[in-house]
Amino acid sequence: MTRKDFLFLPIVVFMFFTALVTVAEASMVTPIRILLVPGHDNEVWGSQYGNTKEADMTLELATKIYDILKQDERFEVYITRDTAGYTKEFADYFSSEREAILNFKTTARKAEKEKIAAGNFIEKETVAHNTVSKDIAVILYGINKWANENKMDAVIHIHFNDYPRSSRWAIGKYKGFAIYLPDGQLPNWKESGQLAANIFIELSKKYLASNYKKELGGLIPDQKLIALGSSSTLLPGVRSVLIEYGYIYDKKFRTKSARENSYENMSQMTVDGIQNYFFDK
Ligand SMILES: [Zn+2]
Repeated sequence: MTRKDFLFLPIVVFMFFTALVTVAEASMVTPIRILLVPGHDNEVWGSQYGNTKEADMTLELATKIYDILKQDERFEVYITRDTAGYTKEFADYFSSEREAILNFKTTARKAEKEKIAAGNFIEKETVAHNTVSKDIAVILYGINKWANENKMDAVIHIHFNDYPRSSRWAIGKYKGFAIYLPDGQLPNWKESGQLAANIFIELSKKYLASNYKKELGGLIPDQKLIALGSSSTLLPGVRSVLIEYGYIYDKKFRTKSARENSYENMSQMTVDGIQNYFFDK
């Protein structure tokens, strides 16, 4: 070793440690945790046009969103079900935590009733939603409880819209997408609203917002949807949005190839909105 080599050694050592610190810092940045919830399931599949079931559509679109987000290291992505049904994680959670989930629901609703009685929460009339069975309540409240416990940063509920029509094959009169967000009295409303707005901006680049009177404008606050954290069942840090990507009978979902094409666009736009919200605010 020459004298010159000795001079270089500390520099090399210094560079080595700097590199180590950079790697350590990078891994210390916790990824953004996103839970995707393809609406409904194989037992209760939501709406239907002809032979096309909403639950199959939501799964296909959610899976595409999952695949795109999964490639982005800044995110850690979860999904509640796949083609085989609820994933093991969720199926196990719903069955082993059933009683705890029902208690979670009862406690939250009781607390809300007390707030209403004390004048600290104002009930509003919103878009009518279907009432849910006990089993579906376990699933929906269970997802909220799981999202709180697992510190999700956002829950994205994926749906296709419908309203009562004369027959399964009837083409309805409403069109367009709508994004539901938590009402301003719910703990997670503010950040959820920002996330919803970012996704709205992207979807608006190609699609029109709903022309249904109660969905006009396309961004709809709601205090009754369990998915959004009704009865304050989602913590302030757990953003939640429910996207109705369009009416199920719409032309863009009518054939398999049209659907494929729509999912392609809608998944990318949803991911763009999520990325913009979390990283380019
Ligand atoms: Zn639905």
